[in-house]
Amino acid sequence: MTVNNEDKSPYRLDGKLAVITGAASGIGEACARLFAQMGASLVLTDINADKCQALANELSHSGTQAKAMAQDVADEKTWQALSDELIRLNQGYDILLNNAGIYIGGKLEDNTAEQMQRIHEVNVQSVMMGTKQAAELMKPDGHFGKGGSVINFSSIAGLVGVPGHSIYGSTKGAVRSFSKHTAVEFARFGYGIRVNSLHPGLIDTAMGAMVFDDFVEIGLAASVEEARGLLEQMMIPMGRLGSVQDIANAALFLASNASSYITGSELTVDGGFTAS
Ligand code: NAD
Repeated sequence: MTVNNEDKSPYRLDGKLAVITGAASGIGEACARLFAQMGASLVLTDINADKCQALANELSHSGTQAKAMAQDVADEKTWQALSDELIRLNQGYDILLNNAGIYIGGKLEDNTAEQMQRIHEVNVQSVMMGTKQAAELMKPDGHFGKGGSVINFSSIAGLVGVPGHSIYGSTKGAVRSFSKHTAVEFARFGYGIRVNSLHPGLIDTAMGAMVFDDFVEIGLAASVEEARGLLEQMMIPMGRLGSVQDIANAALFLASNASSYITGSELTVDGGFTAS
């Protein structure tokens, strides 16, 4: 008898459907690629509809069931459209990665109330709407009824202070706290839905690059190169930025049955940043 070790791995996602927001680039794209490799079906959403569609097409050509949807996660109507589409597809709903997010930096004196409102709409309100919808669809008397795993993207900025990160960090702290409350509520009500927050350190994406620009802007470094050097050498004990793959691997762990007894936790993936 041949034993297929892949089938036995608790990290495999065969038979599971994952929704990934902000999937067109950066960490979300890396998660989509890894989850596809691990056997998941995917519904990918992004405000950048063309890029999201191109990724879904590419993954579909390699044999993954992948569907793209245009979505502004801050807009409640797009969550309803997602729910309608999941019910229409009728392939299940097992994993939600609330990954889409924006960064607005700057010294607090230069930040505005409008910026604060927008960043909370995109980074926090979206997480609330997505998690609520996942609960409605995944809980035992919900449409799919099989439970699931919700992974909410926080940041090390939700755990510790970083210059230029006041309003961004406030969104990520909210995501951390929200995830713990919903994890406990869903567990107590027997929903079979785990909720965890994921806390990347400084990751090599377009958003990561904005942090270097911001360090220059607020006068903490003379150039982007100096900002990168400062952060890598002084703040990250492992001496390098994280890769999107580092984060996708952690997201896979939280999404899969390998983390079946983990809920309400915060998984930090930061090369030691917050430990030092
Ligand atoms: P990124 O900017 O590279 O990609 C973000 C994606 O989200 C893009 O495809 C963008 O089009 C999409 N998006 C933006 N606004 C949206 C909206 N309103 N609706 C739908 N999609 C939208 O960012 P990233 O570095 O891949 O970050 C992904 C997540 O990880 C974010 O929540 C971010 O806060 C978090 N994070 C990133 C870092 C880092 O250093 N890169 C560190 C900690 C946490």
